[in-house]
Parts: sequence; structure tokens; C-alpha cells
Amino acid sequence: MFIITLKGGFPLLLTLPKPVETALSRLESAGFSAYAVGGCVRDHVLGFTPHDYDICTAATPEEMQQVFQNERTIETGLKHGTLTVLLQGMPLEITTFRLDGAYSDGRHPDSVQFTSRVEDDLSRRDFTINAMAYSPKEGLVDPFGGQADCKAGVIRCVGDPAARFGEDALRILRALRFSARLGFPIEEATANAVREGRTQLCHVSRERIAVELTGLLQGKDASSVLRQFPEVIETALPELDALIHGPHWETTLRTLDAAPKDVYLCWAAFLRLCGSEAVAYEALKSLKMSVKIMDTVSQLVRWQGAELRPESLQETLMRIGPERLEQLILFRQAARTAEQKESPEAVARDTEALRQKLKTLLEENACYTLSQLAVNGKDMAALGLRGPAIGEALHGLLLKVVRGETANEREALLEAAQKV
Ligand code: ATP
Ligand code: MG
Repeated sequence: MFIITLKGGFPLLLTLPKPVETALSRLESAGFSAYAVGGCVRDHVLGFTPHDYDICTAATPEEMQQVFQNERTIETGLKHGTLTVLLQGMPLEITTFRLDGAYSDGRHPDSVQFTSRVEDDLSRRDFTINAMAYSPKEGLVDPFGGQADCKAGVIRCVGDPAARFGEDALRILRALRFSARLGFPIEEATANAVREGRTQLCHVSRERIAVELTGLLQGKDASSVLRQFPEVIETALPELDALIHGPHWETTLRTLDAAPKDVYLCWAAFLRLCGSEAVAYEALKSLKMSVKIMDTVSQLVRWQGAELRPESLQETLMRIGPERLEQLILFRQAARTAEQKESPEAVARDTEALRQKLKTLLEENACYTLSQLAVNGKDMAALGLRGPAIGEALHGLLLKVVRGETANEREALLEAAQKV
């Protein structure tokens, strides 16, 4: 357990999990300095619970393997100095202090060099808030003012921003993502370098761009970051230039503000007014997104104008299924809120009614698929139907059922089928 007093603030009580403390003290007993580092220290200082812990140490991977020879280890990236140790059920990534060599491809260091100084290791990290280390023995190591920037709430590069983005252009998008997630503005020199360095995003793989953009869109301050750095987004996704410079940009940003922070809904909110479902699909495809994301988002974009009503919800359920309908209800709420034509209360009331109705339909096992119909293909064949006519008849019956024109009962359905 440790206490950090933020300058001028109140003392924060911070606790490292037991396995992390154990790992640090084992390395130290073996003569190697060791620290929790990066995101976990930042999150502690900010008062959040870290989702994982990284450790850095003076020990080389071979030395780490010695220290943890009785534990389960995974050779995550020995070349780069990383070993994962499973300690008391917790996976810990332990990495040797390192300095990165030159970056000639704008993304990866040509070489890495192990060092025995934690300060060296911190100096290669991207932002001051991410460049702090902590150990119970040494306390907080913060050579770049990360604690002050946590307190002030700013994203600032370690060192010269233009040089840092020149080394690795992914940091440009990481700056935007952290700004959106934490709600911290990007400090001016760093912000200028973000704008000026944006063309170097061509050195970053599309998959990594996708991960960072998704994180950005899911951030609580996504709209404000997009409003400040539209040219960066345009560089990453040129197919969106019409959206970014067009009349729907503000509505798009308001939709993002109103949408739940779910991957599908964020992307659907972001792309819904980009021109067409095809443009949205192409943008996602250019980022090498999964088929599931491409399909879900384009279907939501296609259905965004659907007027959802409790009375006809069973039919909509038949058309798009329960999972998509649940998403669509929330998506429509975000879109209507962003349009600002109705009061937010009215939109919220409608949404609640739709969600209730969907819940009831599913609880009551309402019929929305062919397999739930009280008649099947054999029944249709017995009525003398053959081939495709059987499927058509069943579909016709399902439509009657979801529209409430016929009960889902065998007798009633057979009678209806005979009429058709
Ligand atoms: P998150 O909560 O999103 O995981 P994080 O800070 O842990 O945030 P990671 O991507 O897991 O982010 O990286 C761990 C640490 O490694 C960062 O805190 C930072 O110190 C360093 N780091 C990661 N990527 C880079 C990069 N591209 N350039 C420089 N340092 C980086
Ligand atoms: Mg992390």
C-alpha cells in the first residue's frame, strides 16, 4: 500500500495487488530494481482501478526466468525483453528496462537496448502520464512531471512531440484516444505536432489504426477530440472527407455523444451520416475490421431511419432478430436525440416503451422465426404444396403471426394457409 500526495490536493490511498508486490520484492531480493510502470501507475494516480499491471526491471529475460523458475511463465517477447509470469493467478508482463534505437520505418525501433536505469526506460514512453514507475521501496519515479499532468489533466509528449511522433506515428492516435478517454485536453505543442505529423499515419498498420480509432470513439470526450482534430481523422479515413466537411458533421458528433459506448453503436453513430451504407462499409473494410463489425454497423446504418413502434415490433424482430433490434432501439434513441427535433424526455420515453415491449415479446416466447411456427413444411406438403411454394407459404404465415392477424396455433394456421 502506498500514499501519494498530489501537489495541493488531498492524499490518495493507493494499493498494489498482492501478486504485483510479490513480483517486485522477488526481483529486488535477487538484486534487480523493479517497478510497476505505465498505464497501471497512471490509473492509480488518477484514482481508477487498473485493468492490468506491467512491471519493468533491470533483470534481463534470462535473469527473470531464474527468479521465477518455479512459476508458470510465457515467453511473450524475449527479444524485446518481455516475459509473462503467472503469479498467484495473475498474469504479469515483466519487461527489461530498455532504450529504443533509431526508428527508420516511422513505427518500430530498429533495435532495442537493455539498460539498468528506470529513467531511461521511462524516457522512451509516449506521454508524461504514461511515463511513471512505482515501487513500494522507491516510491514514485516521475522524471517528466506525469503526476502534475495527471493533476492538471493534460496529455503531453515525453520530450519533443514532433520527434516522438516521427519515431512512431501510432502515438498520434494514442494521444487522441487518451484525450477522449480521460477527458484531458492535448497540450498545445503536442497538439500542433499531432496535426503536423498526421501524414505519417501511413506508416501505421490499418489494424492498429482501427484499434485506436475505436478506443477514441468509445471515449467520453470523443466528440470534442473529433471536433479539434478533424484533419487527423480525415487522414486516417479519407473516405470520410465529405462527412467531415459537410453539413452533417455536428449531428454526427452529437449522435456519438448520445450513443452508448459500445463498439458497434459508436461506429454506427460515427458513420451513419457518412453518405451511404456502402461508404460506411468501405471505411470499416479499409480498417480491416471484422466481418461482424462491418455487417452489424452497416445493418444499423441501413435501418437507422426505421420507425420503431411497440405495435409492430414483433415484425421488426422477425426482420432483424433480437440482438440487432436491441441495438437498433438504442441507436435510434441516439440518432433522434442528436436530431434535436424532439425533447430528450420524449425520446427516452419512447425508447423505454420499445425496450419493455421487446423484453415482453422475448419473455413470452413470441413467434418471430419459422422454426417457432406451430406448423411446418410437412403440413404445407400435406395441403398439396410443393417446392418453393412451401417456403413461401410458411413465410406468409409467419408474417400474419407477427402482424397479429393470425394466432400461432396449428388449426388457425392451417386454415389461413388453405385460404392463401
Ligand atoms: P491502457 O489502459 O489503454 O492499456 P496503457 O497506458 O497501459 O493504457 P498500453 O498500450 O497497454 O497502454 O501500453 C503500456 C505502456 O507502454 C504505456 O503506458 C506507455 O508507457 C508505453 N507505450 C505503449 N505504446 C507506446 C508507444 N507506441 N510509444 C511509446 N510508449 C508506448
Ligand atoms: Mg495497458
